[in-house]
Amino acid sequence: MTWKTEGIVLRVRNLGEADRIVTLYTKERGKLNVVARGARRIRNRLLSPTQVFTQGRYLIFPSKTLHNLGQAEIVHSGQVIRDDLEKFAYASYITELLDALTVEEDPIDRVFPLLASTLALLEAGRLALATRAFEIRLMRELGYEPELYHCLSCREALKNKVLFSEQGGVLCENCVGQDPASLQLSNGTWELMKKLLEWDFSRLPVLHPASNNEEELRRVMRRYLDYRLEYPLKSLEFLGTLQALN
Ligand SMILES: [Zn+2]
Repeated sequence: MTWKTEGIVLRVRNLGEADRIVTLYTKERGKLNVVARGARRIRNRLLSPTQVFTQGRYLIFPSKTLHNLGQAEIVHSGQVIRDDLEKFAYASYITELLDALTVEEDPIDRVFPLLASTLALLEAGRLALATRAFEIRLMRELGYEPELYHCLSCREALKNKVLFSEQGGVLCENCVGQDPASLQLSNGTWELMKKLLEWDFSRLPVLHPASNNEEELRRVMRRYLDYRLEYPLKSLEFLGTLQALN
């Protein structure tokens, strides 16, 4: 029995002298770890298709212990991302976040296309926009969609003076006591969140958020995601160092 699937490489680790363990996020089977035998040898046919951020078609021999990668063919190389330090840093964060929040062989329908669209937007240079869109949409696909219209506590429809709670949505001024650590959400950032979550992904490039809204959203999403993560992501340190240099 073999599995044929399309996937994107999230992570690569060395195994032994010449092998790789490759973490793929696949269309049909969700996240999979597979062994690519000999993939670190020059001229090995598995060398290129098992590089991080590559999208490809993979033929897998499933096993109870470690699945084996038989053949692979590149659909999109991801070279543009690997060649650019900033794009590489953002893409590393996105793939680490997805890896941290998912388990193996538990496919979630819309995650693969979300990952592919996000990497394409990163390639186009829309680093912050792509990353925030990925974060908020991934939370929705994983069942943690943020409540953006009604106060999490009293359920009142909100118009302005909104706060955001890490517990997954907006709070009104009166209910801020429910989560004293909640963050102020300006109207511009609030609107941006709604668009990132609700618009078709293909429309998102028309958005050009003001830098204060972008920064506010980054902080709000950080708090919201960290609440769901069991450990801090390594890629965030690298991303922080790069941003400090810019
Ligand atoms: Zn309230």
